[in-house]
Amino acid sequence: MAGAPGGGELGPAAGEPLLQRPDSGQGSPEPPAHGKPQQGFLSSLFTRDQSCPLMLQKTLDTNPYVKLLLDAMKHSGCAVNRGRHFSCEVCDGNVSGGFDASTSQIVLCENNIRNQVHMGRVVTHELIHAFDHCRAHVHWFTNIRHLACSEIRAASLSGDCSLVNELFRLRFGLKQHHQTCVRDRAVLSILAVRNVSREEAQKAVDEVFQTCFNDREPFGRIPHNQTYARYAHRDFQNRDRYYSNI
Ligand SMILES: [Zn+2]
Repeated sequence: MAGAPGGGELGPAAGEPLLQRPDSGQGSPEPPAHGKPQQGFLSSLFTRDQSCPLMLQKTLDTNPYVKLLLDAMKHSGCAVNRGRHFSCEVCDGNVSGGFDASTSQIVLCENNIRNQVHMGRVVTHELIHAFDHCRAHVHWFTNIRHLACSEIRAASLSGDCSLVNELFRLRFGLKQHHQTCVRDRAVLSILAVRNVSREEAQKAVDEVFQTCFNDREPFGRIPHNQTYARYAHRDFQNRDRYYSNI
């Protein structure tokens, strides 16, 4: 199972076929620059060991993005088991989480996930990778465009680039800004897990951008907030019901 995160930084450690066990950290640099987790009185009320599983549990039970993705995984024959497929670990650097394709496990970086909202976004982001892994033969290591495609989808559909998040980053923009944000974050996520140049990462993202940006499965739309995500979930359930009645 998930031992220590390779002891390593980014990328496959010790020949381990890691996908991107650390991943979205770079890709999810959060609003104000924390850098290091805070060790205040409030956070000391929860030991990390408790708070990560507790936040995960709440996310799995209540987050509409996550509930949709869990349904979609099940529907695709990749039912997710919370004990088997999630692992709270201490990670190096400022990464927030990762998806390990070799074990189909989502790693949650308990030292870097700061609150419930952040947990929800990390789980969503990584579940999108898990969904892509389930439905397609993704060559995470040998084809950088496959990785780029999944990073584009994860950035676009997870809420990583929602307006509120962007406002927090003080990068206010218009409609087109979503796409710019998705591009930027996909490139950062690739750079976080692959030893390639920024130019190579950008090229890979550019080559697949339109196709992958337009692939909104299983949401069917870009869920800009929780309400959209709830609608998307309802639509997904109806779609499921419709097909199962044929
Ligand atoms: Zn990612």
